[in-house]
Amino acid sequence: EAEKEIGFFFPPEQTLAVIKPDTQHKEVILDEIRARGFTVSRLKDTVLSREMAEEFYKEHRDEPFFGQLVDYMVRGPCTMLVLTKENAVDEWRAAMGPTDPGEARETAPESLRARFAKDILQNAVHGSSNQTQAHDKIHFIFGDISSENEAVSPALEAEESF
Ligand code: UDP
Repeated sequence: EAEKEIGFFFPPEQTLAVIKPDTQHKEVILDEIRARGFTVSRLKDTVLSREMAEEFYKEHRDEPFFGQLVDYMVRGPCTMLVLTKENAVDEWRAAMGPTDPGEARETAPESLRARFAKDILQNAVHGSSNQTQAHDKIHFIFGDISSENEAVSPALEAEESF
């Protein structure tokens, strides 16, 4: 009898998502996130300092667009999110669509960037590209939340606490 109670539990994965400044579509994007089955485990609106933005995107520091990217990211509040779902990293990348909204509109017309990005720089949303990045960026933005990971807190509760 008891054996029936024992099953396999695959813990849901987490990713860091950002609604970038100036999107004007924050609420719609949050609705989309939930409609696509993600749990919003943490939510925080933050204006990044230049130092934080540079650190956040340090992997891109040698790219020609790095300066513009940092300027963009510090222009106003970013909505920082921890999204929880099975396969969250890849699912969120798919929900965002390609970096370039022109390409997004061609290949993924339902994606968030196809619908809400202004151009390749101001492309509305960010998402970690792999689990290591997700772990590092969640820690960078939210600190140590590992003790909260077991019980993925209900979205509303998490949002109301900010
Ligand atoms: N970006 C840009 N020009 C480019 C490529 C990227 O301005 O040619 C910006 C854009 O905001 C992008 C961010 O830099 O989201 C990070 O680039 P990445 O290649 O990591 O794209 P992502 O992972 O965000 O799709």
